[in-house]
Amino acid sequence: MRKKIVAGNWKMNMTTEEATSLVNGLKAELAIFRGADVVVCPPFTAISTVSALVQGTHIDLGAQNMHWEKSGAYTGEISAAMLRELYCHYVILGHSERRTYFGETDEIVNRKVKAALAATLHPIVCVGETLAQREAGEVETVITTQVRGSLAGLSQKEILDSVIAYEPVWAIGTGKTATSAQAQEVHALIRKTLASMYDAAIADGVRIQYGGSVKPGNAKELFSMPDIDGGLIGGAALDAKSFIDIVRAAV
Ligand code: PEP
Repeated sequence: MRKKIVAGNWKMNMTTEEATSLVNGLKAELAIFRGADVVVCPPFTAISTVSALVQGTHIDLGAQNMHWEKSGAYTGEISAAMLRELYCHYVILGHSERRTYFGETDEIVNRKVKAALAATLHPIVCVGETLAQREAGEVETVITTQVRGSLAGLSQKEILDSVIAYEPVWAIGTGKTATSAQAQEVHALIRKTLASMYDAAIADGVRIQYGGSVKPGNAKELFSMPDIDGGLIGGAALDAKSFIDIVRAAV
């Protein structure tokens, strides 16, 4: 049985003061919650503050990006070890906003995934097609290429330590959610791709989140699909009540 995992991607939002208020709101309901794994991914500047606030609770901490090198002349970048030092256990990699605005390719994402795993961080690896690709009938090609490319060369243990997030680009921040059937179809495709890369048992153990305009009103139906193991939540993760309601929909 795969335990569901709900992660909040705060993106470039939340000063440390705002983050403190949001996390205190989450802690009131989720500090001892065990029904699903709960992760918050603040911007780098709030990670230290949030790390101290979630210590001793069941709320886990993640980052939204990192560099693949261990250290060096990479102005503006952050290493996996720097995230581990602040007790991050997860890192979102290959988000469509990173792919679109910062030119991240599957090869770059793959380097980051390997660096994260080497530092004992769990990567949350994002894949997803654009609307144009969906309308051109390219979903299968795009998704299998991203899955194979982003996860190339991972051992069985490493793939099981990873989380995949299916995020159709056309559903991110747009209010347009994939229907539960559309999402399930792609999640099943991702699992089939993993089975061909490893085997059915390994594929069955990997958690695949759905992301794209998940809200309290649609979370339950999405999370009830057989291959959907929770969600990666953007906008709705910035409001304590909405995020808590989405987490509770995962049980
Ligand atoms: C995301 O950016 O990962 C995301 C799913 O955003 P939203 O929930 O706002 O669509």
